[in-house]
Amino acid sequence: MKTEFTKRQLRNDNIQLANDIFRRCVHCGLCTATCSSYVVVGDERDSPRGRIYMIKDMLESGTVPDKTLTTHMDRCLSCFSCMTTCPSGVDYMHLSDLAREEIETHGPRSFYDRMIRAMLSSTLPYPGRFNVMLLLGRLARPLQPLLAIVGLKQMAAMLEMLPARRKKSPEFKGGGTARPKGQQHKRVLLMTGCVQQVVRPSINDASIRLMARQGIEVIVPEKSGCCGALDLHMGKVEKAGVHARRNIQAFKELEEQMPLDGIIINASGCGTTVKDYGHLFGSNKSLRSKKIKAEDAVKFSETVFDISEFLINYNFGTAQLWSDLKVAVHIPCSMMHGQKITDHPQTLLRNAGFTVLPIDEAHICCGSAGVYNVLQPEIATSLGQRKADHISRAKPDIVATANLGCLTQIDHHSSVPVVHFIELLDWAYGGPCPDGLENLKDRVDHLDQD
Ligand code: SF4
Ligand code: SF4
Repeated sequence: MKTEFTKRQLRNDNIQLANDIFRRCVHCGLCTATCSSYVVVGDERDSPRGRIYMIKDMLESGTVPDKTLTTHMDRCLSCFSCMTTCPSGVDYMHLSDLAREEIETHGPRSFYDRMIRAMLSSTLPYPGRFNVMLLLGRLARPLQPLLAIVGLKQMAAMLEMLPARRKKSPEFKGGGTARPKGQQHKRVLLMTGCVQQVVRPSINDASIRLMARQGIEVIVPEKSGCCGALDLHMGKVEKAGVHARRNIQAFKELEEQMPLDGIIINASGCGTTVKDYGHLFGSNKSLRSKKIKAEDAVKFSETVFDISEFLINYNFGTAQLWSDLKVAVHIPCSMMHGQKITDHPQTLLRNAGFTVLPIDEAHICCGSAGVYNVLQPEIATSLGQRKADHISRAKPDIVATANLGCLTQIDHHSSVPVVHFIELLDWAYGGPCPDGLENLKDRVDHLDQD
């Protein structure tokens, strides 16, 4: 793609980065067919190519984002299906990050829009505040239809997406260490996230139990928390940097005391972001501090593994399970397109004794995409329903996924029970039956317990 930046403009690091990205695009449009927003909306401006042109026009003209760019960037799910498809290696992810930051700083948002975003940013990353919000949200739930009627769709969507009941309290709370009973082979740091701790703490519990059983010492640092993805996807780069700095600092402190074999993430949305801390700190001087330098962020990112990446190298032994349960696996976009992990969860589940089914149109987003299902409820609902239809055609007993957002979104649209794949693995290797699968308990026999 031909660009017309002046030499002066190109002295700006962000413009230089954007220019390099634009130059790779050959306008072929192949990305359009696999774009999760385009398949629903059908407008070229809701495709990667359309957005790339609009971002280029804004940056070249040196103007602030207008209403059109804001609308169409807001409809992008950051699923990065376009990056998997693109034959030319266009780095849409970092280009969209730049555009979102511009929109957040200078874009034409209404007061209501800014208020919703500020509310999400100041509650979701903090488990204490989020718990209070859940409580208030449940009380306000009867107002949900009224909010939808008067056009406050995002508020209505927020209430609609609230978990219906309180999940069991976590078995492992706050910071701590799980030491394996037998021989210890590895030591890892587990990032337990923010929303996940509140909405489905059983995912972290299952991860800790499963790894400890495999001889892996699991440390959850007291200071670990939100990865910053929620803020980053809303263009709030400085706030994302605060979360990132805290996580990197926790890792540095621990690493000075003892050697670590990896930082484990069990939410693929967070994994994509933390694997990119190196770029975040490398391209934003303001995020660096005396304590956290760009090289610290790079080192952190290089130490991160999705839990499936880490466990795939473990010998779990032969299957310990007899079961006729069929599991349809939904690989989140952040895992498939963001981290290029396409089949580790399926392999681990198959090895554990489950029958694994594919889901059609696996490359298209389920509509969750961080807080997208709150901010863009109509498109998110279309995508959620589309995913649920594909799931029902596969006729599974269970859906397994690898990210809390997808789990919540699919659960909302599909009648098939949804769990994190790590909860199924934990069950197969001696853990409790996952929440929501109680009716299927009789269809599983643990061979080693006969
Ligand atoms: S990130 Fe997803 S929604 Fe956004 S342009 Fe790419 S494919 Fe489309
Ligand atoms: S597939 Fe890649 S090169 Fe082709 S239009 Fe899309 S971004 Fe540009």
